[in-house]
Amino acid sequence: MTSPLDEVVREARAKENYRCARCDYPLGDVPLGSERCVTCPECGYEMVFEVKVQLLPRDPEFDREIRSRLGRLERMVLPVSLVLMAMMIGLIIVVVMLVL
Ligand SMILES: [Zn+2]
Repeated sequence: MTSPLDEVVREARAKENYRCARCDYPLGDVPLGSERCVTCPECGYEMVFEVKVQLLPRDPEFDREIRSRLGRLERMVLPVSLVLMAMMIGLIIVVVMLVL
């Protein structure tokens, strides 16, 4: 019985041209062993297919837009904080002059 993971590996193998990591032998027709193992018929090297699940942005263009918007916001923080700091220093100087 093939598991859903085996099915995922089978579909991935149909799209890509996998080769032996040691001798570069094409592994397209080599059957999948137990626990998604593949043994190279040329050199005997054993490899295993690992299935990873990744969360990616559905729309990369939208992601880029959000990032550039955040970048613009971050660029505004420095000048605004400099102006606020200058105003605070000015206020402190005025208070000190009034006291003295
Ligand atoms: Zn090999």
